[in-house]
Amino acid sequence: MIDTHAHIVCKELYERKEEVIAQAKEAGVSKILIICTSIQEAKLAIALAKEDTMFDVAVGFHPCDLLDVQADDWLMLEEFLQEKEVVALGEIGLDYHWQTVEKDIQKEGFIRQIQLANKVQKPILIHMREATQDTMAILKEYAQYGGIIHCFSGSVETAKEAIALGMYISVGGPLTFKNARGLPEVVAQLPITSLFIETDCPYLTPHPHRGKQNEPKYLPYTLARLCEIKQMSEEDVKVQMRKNYEKLFSSLS
Ligand SMILES: [Zn+2]
Repeated sequence: MIDTHAHIVCKELYERKEEVIAQAKEAGVSKILIICTSIQEAKLAIALAKEDTMFDVAVGFHPCDLLDVQADDWLMLEEFLQEKEVVALGEIGLDYHWQTVEKDIQKEGFIRQIQLANKVQKPILIHMREATQDTMAILKEYAQYGGIIHCFSGSVETAKEAIALGMYISVGGPLTFKNARGLPEVVAQLPITSLFIETDCPYLTPHPHRGKQNEPKYLPYTLARLCEIKQMSEEDVKVQMRKNYEKLFSSLS
């Protein structure tokens, strides 16, 4: 099982990382793509990935954090992107839910980071919240090396449009929620060759552990729900997701 979006270097999870990692492995998680939202987190994640090949790393500035990013941070980001452990740039994107950062600043930061990813020919990991139209327009114009839209909650049409641009769709804990609304129906209509699962830990813990802090060890609940929706065996889904992962990051090795 691959967890394509895990913030295991966030403070709460990193301080008990030995336990978190051991329990993830025990639960059958064989690969974790660690998402770093700051330069400090990136250093921790790259160190972990150099020790254990179970980890890949993504570094990028989240749209809600853009006001705190300094000129030096941009230079560090470019440096990190040269590391072979850093397989993608993210999470980046647009978040119009909180609107703590002006839309224009978000768009500028998003585009600037896609251009950095293009320069090193690496995929991007997208955060898209209540900003479908602008996100899709920017992806269409700038994205060149594919990527993953994480914690997808949009429509089938948006998902298919993204897939046509070389994007994959990743779903997390919300797929298991009783009030998952249209998400199971959307996922049912998407090809398994374009899907991933994730925890987005420490957030969005799957049912029946909702309310607890999330960790990669809870990924099997999301996998089980996906298998139910797609009417596929866990083995077949795991094999396909491994293929998807290899395909997306194949140009890197
Ligand atoms: Zn995230």
